[in-house]
Amino acid sequence: MHEHAHGRRAIETMIRSQDLGGLLRLVETFHGHLCPFISLGVKAGQYAMSELDRPNTGMEEIVAIVECNNCFTDGIQVVTGCTFGNNALIFKDLGKTAVTVARRDDGRAVRLLVRPDYREKMFARYPNTKPLFQKIIGQRQGSAEERHRFEHMWEAIARRELKTPLEEQFVIQSLSITLPEYARLVDSLICSVCGESVMATRTVGPVEQPLCLECARREHYLLTGQGISCVSREQT
Ligand SMILES: [Zn+2]
Ligand SMILES: [Zn+2]
Repeated sequence: MHEHAHGRRAIETMIRSQDLGGLLRLVETFHGHLCPFISLGVKAGQYAMSELDRPNTGMEEIVAIVECNNCFTDGIQVVTGCTFGNNALIFKDLGKTAVTVARRDDGRAVRLLVRPDYREKMFARYPNTKPLFQKIIGQRQGSAEERHRFEHMWEAIARRELKTPLEEQFVIQSLSITLPEYARLVDSLICSVCGESVMATRTVGPVEQPLCLECARREHYLLTGQGISCVSREQT
């Protein structure tokens, strides 16, 4: 039996050789832009993956638990290979820029939390950035020229922050955790009103006449930039 060549070989090589610049370029294509928080995601992901030293083929061998849905998470998804789609990304809606990466075989985990003073220290390292950041990102204002200038600054910071020592950016903990069960395969049912196929765990009513949550006008969870909330049909 040959060893199956999986899709993350190139990323694993980059992790082993600490090619943070290469990893950042990959994350940029996924995230859409360069920013300091994807650099942090790259660094946390690279550190955790080399500590745990296991390949990840997206079959939940490695699980990442993120505590905030922000730019940081995209760095984590690409570098660790734990994604929204392969069920190895767990979202704990705490609003902290932190990640715990764990391996399934023995529960060994590392948690990296962005230091509470990181933002202020980062802005202090690049003093011209903060007013522009507040204008462009905070208030969604500023001229096209200012936006352009900000993007250049932000990209340069993202690259330079790769070189800041990890300990200045993160609090790092070594942990042993119990991982959640593997995602279960669930049957699909056909909603008796809209005719759409839907996971059985997301239906209500008798099996012979199942209803999807929308047709049943039931509440369901919704993940947006605001985090997770429970909403009714009228709100979506
Ligand atoms: Zn970003
Ligand atoms: Zn329906």
